[in-house]
Amino acid sequence: MVLNFENTAKAFALKSDIELKKAYWLFRVIGQPRLARWGSWLTKKMLDWHIPVEGIIKNTVFRQFCGGVSEEDCRLVIENLQSKNVFSVLDYSVEGKADESAFDEALDRISSVLINASITSAIPFGVFKPTGLGAIELFELKSQGVQLTAAQEQAWHRIVHRFDRLCGLAAEHSLPVLIDAEESWMQDSADQLILDMMRKYNRDRIIVYQTIQAYRWDRKQYATTLCETGRLDGFKIGVKLVRGAYMEKENQRALDLGVKSPICPNKKATDDNFDDIAQYLVSQIDVCSVFLGTHNEESTLMVARLMDQKGIDKTDSRIWFAQLYGMSDHISFNLSDLGYRVAKYLPFGPVREVMPYLMRRAAENTSVAGQTSRELSLLQKELNRRKL
Ligand SMILES: Cc1cc2nc3c(=O)[nH]c(=O)nc-3n(C[C@H](O)[C@H](O)[C@H](O)COP(=O)(O)OP(=O)(O)OC[C@H]3O[C@@H](n4cnc5c(N)ncnc54)[C@H](O)[C@@H]3O)c2cc1C
Repeated sequence: MVLNFENTAKAFALKSDIELKKAYWLFRVIGQPRLARWGSWLTKKMLDWHIPVEGIIKNTVFRQFCGGVSEEDCRLVIENLQSKNVFSVLDYSVEGKADESAFDEALDRISSVLINASITSAIPFGVFKPTGLGAIELFELKSQGVQLTAAQEQAWHRIVHRFDRLCGLAAEHSLPVLIDAEESWMQDSADQLILDMMRKYNRDRIIVYQTIQAYRWDRKQYATTLCETGRLDGFKIGVKLVRGAYMEKENQRALDLGVKSPICPNKKATDDNFDDIAQYLVSQIDVCSVFLGTHNEESTLMVARLMDQKGIDKTDSRIWFAQLYGMSDHISFNLSDLGYRVAKYLPFGPVREVMPYLMRRAAENTSVAGQTSRELSLLQKELNRRKL
């Protein structure tokens, strides 16, 4: 059977008519940047003023994009996804807390998610974000090669220790772990740390995955050096490949500092870079595994075709496709229906605390050209099909 993304019956099989209509209206709001911005602002204010809006949030945007308030709460969603051959990556999405006790709390929480994930076949990866485990300022200083004070040095050691605890735990429980990528000005030190973790834990199998953002024009060279280093030093490479989520911020910062932006000059250049890196990684599949985090249909089709040409089985666990929960179901479920390895990033956490994540989702949806209108047209198509 040929892969195509038009089958909305498969894409939305898990959604009731009411859920479908809710999703349609939600994407209509998100698709209007001014309304989405105003809605995000108002929601934040209402939460700050303790107006009881959590119930409304929970029944709308939270239900669309999150699995639940706790791991336990996500269980039904995880089981439903698995019934369609789609796996879950539980993402503890509490953002914006940045002190040592919050980092230790995040470490404990993510450790427990990793351990619980390792006992179910429905969750094939763990995930964490570098700045969930340490201050972004410290990653930034370290990336610039600045001499740290004694206190900063100690804080950095605590970050290294937290990374090692999570990667070590992942190795102990044989559960690969994906490490998110963030802003370019803090990423070098995170990359170096992740490289150390790969060197330590990816000897015989791939436990640690680092994220490469293809909107950065220097990343093809980076991917090449990474794979060559792995070959030379005898360890394997795990890569989560994404386009990148911080484009506006990156371009604005470069403009403010009067330096060249690390971001590709246009969307086409990012797309070409993504496809080029994806092809390169698939060509290195003897030492590398790739987890493609994308909602882009062309890139997904390109990799599926490439797998076919190279005789790589659809079910090969070295190549995963992944989308965010609540988005691009037409890609996830049509891929999984043909047997490809597919995962959904499933954010969870208390409603109030995942708000920053949800607001980023709403903001990003307004800036990701074409995706929201594509979601809308597919939802409309399925609503019409069901009416008939
Ligand atoms: C499972 C998963 C995990 C993710 N993890 C991370 C992560 O760890 N770190 C992270 O940064 N992001 C992450 N993302 C988000 C991702 O980077 C993208 O922002 C998002 O997926 C949109 O890109 P796309 O490939 O899906 O779709 P598309 O709609 O094809 O691409 C949109 C993207 O193209 C790029 N772009 C758009 N316009 C331009 C332009 N004018 N010039 C240059 N580039 C442009 C931007 O990166 C934009 O986000 C993740 C996404 C998924 C699905």
